[in-house]
Amino acid sequence: MNIGTVASKGIAVGKVVVLDRPTLTIPKHENQDVALEKETFKEAITRSVENLTAIKAKMADHFDDEHMAIMDAHLQMLQDPEIRSQTHDLIDQGKNAAQAYETVTNTFIAMFEAMEDDYFRARAADIQDIQYRVLAHLIGTPLKDATLLDEDTLIAAHDLTPSDTATLDYRFVKGFITEVGGVTSHTAIMARALGIPALVGAKEALSKLNPGEVYVLDALEGKLIASPDEATLASYKEKAEQLLREKQRLQKFKDQVTKTRDGHALPLFANIGSPDDLALVEPHGAEGIGLYRTEFLFMNEKTMPSLQKQIDAYQKVFEAYDTVIVRTLDIGGDKNLPYLQQAKEDNPFLGLRALRLTLKERELFKTQLKALLIGGKGSPHIHIMFPMVALEQELDAAIEVLEEVKSDLDQANEPYQKNVKIGIMIEIPAAALNAERLASKVDFFSIGSNDLIQYTYAADRMNEAVGYLYQPFDATLLRLIKHVIDSAHKHNTEVGVCGEMGGDLWLALVLAGMGIDELSMQPSSILPIREALSKLDLKQLQELSERVLACHDSDSVKRTIQETLATLI
Ligand code: PEP
Ligand code: MG
Repeated sequence: MNIGTVASKGIAVGKVVVLDRPTLTIPKHENQDVALEKETFKEAITRSVENLTAIKAKMADHFDDEHMAIMDAHLQMLQDPEIRSQTHDLIDQGKNAAQAYETVTNTFIAMFEAMEDDYFRARAADIQDIQYRVLAHLIGTPLKDATLLDEDTLIAAHDLTPSDTATLDYRFVKGFITEVGGVTSHTAIMARALGIPALVGAKEALSKLNPGEVYVLDALEGKLIASPDEATLASYKEKAEQLLREKQRLQKFKDQVTKTRDGHALPLFANIGSPDDLALVEPHGAEGIGLYRTEFLFMNEKTMPSLQKQIDAYQKVFEAYDTVIVRTLDIGGDKNLPYLQQAKEDNPFLGLRALRLTLKERELFKTQLKALLIGGKGSPHIHIMFPMVALEQELDAAIEVLEEVKSDLDQANEPYQKNVKIGIMIEIPAAALNAERLASKVDFFSIGSNDLIQYTYAADRMNEAVGYLYQPFDATLLRLIKHVIDSAHKHNTEVGVCGEMGGDLWLALVLAGMGIDELSMQPSSILPIREALSKLDLKQLQELSERVLACHDSDSVKRTIQETLATLI
């Protein structure tokens, strides 16, 4: 079954154990004895502190300082004088200890949940975690922290708290599956820190999985395979071993600059959809962010994100990498904003999408540009990129809006980043064909091959039925891309590729030979491509691309690459 988002990559096999937290029923009895309730409360806090201190001691073997700090924060919250005094007040007013503690901590949870800052919002889950522990003691059903495991296990849970994960025996825990959580949930962070494969956001996993049954957790493809037969197990075992060997071997490239064997640099960047993704990028040694798709910041909200909220998000990315290419909103097509009045279109991918839309929604566009310029203060290499440009006039109009925003900021005496590089996505054939004129107006291009293929071949990128037309290896596409690169270079405009084809090992080598200046990709493609480039000279890559450009279709391109590489690597 295909069930979740990969939060930590890998393959694991084990019996599923479900970690479930029983729902606690808060007693309704009246408070008969204030002193006794306060004493019970004090006792529950003491027991909880003892639990967490023991867990923390156990954690020291597995976790680094960052994760230990989470436990320290929990211990502090447990003993927070404000929470204690407010709980005492409610006990004085007649509530029993459990009711009082629940009411007080609920207020804090609600307060954190309402905060704008993602970091503080996430702290609500920490208070929920300690609230549960203390209430369990108050009610007389203390949590079982230690799961006694004696065989390879996949832990499945609705959610895993830091203290849950801390008490597990990692000789036997081989994988995590949680129903909720994203790639920055505690489970995800801990799983990555521990190098344990994990799927998060696996909706209804608890009802679909059979506890006690053996599963393969394929945290490469986001799949779970129940009761695998011998052949399946053997093939996954082989995959897992291969993965490990690969990972170890590639680590030596992590902090290296990407270069061909004869020393030509070709920066390899990562694509991200939010600042949260930075945690996933880090282990793969990206040299920058080559595509920050900002629309997810807008799509994940019920209302338009404020200027400040946008500044905060962009700043996080600018602070993490020297070079960042931020794409302005690409809404439309299959991405809609609930709070924007978007007319229904018969062909949304050919409709009011991306720059076409933001040029109409001028205030929204201006706010985003303003946030980027303010957020980019102090960051040396920020690049602003406009998506879906077809005509020069659209680019001119976008630059005009940017200039207007700059002059507004000047007038308001608001400091901002003045040194910004401007670029466009090349993802519409008209722009590719007109690359030379467009190049004279911008600092850089980034080829959006996902859309460029769909629009060049009139083949919906999501429609399997026309998949035979959607071929990143097709020679016609490659010749179009070569035209874009050469046209851009006539004006010293840099060209990258940020569509999926840039992360394909073979195509990355072909693009390198064609003279591409950078490639941006999903993070896990970076190290294998860096390694391959380090084994080849630029001249060899150029010869490879020349042969490929003389081909006529995608099959002959693939064959040519395979045959050429076989003689080289
Ligand atoms: C592309 O079209 O190649 C691209 C990177 O943009 P998106 O996939 O977001 O449309
Ligand atoms: Mg695109």
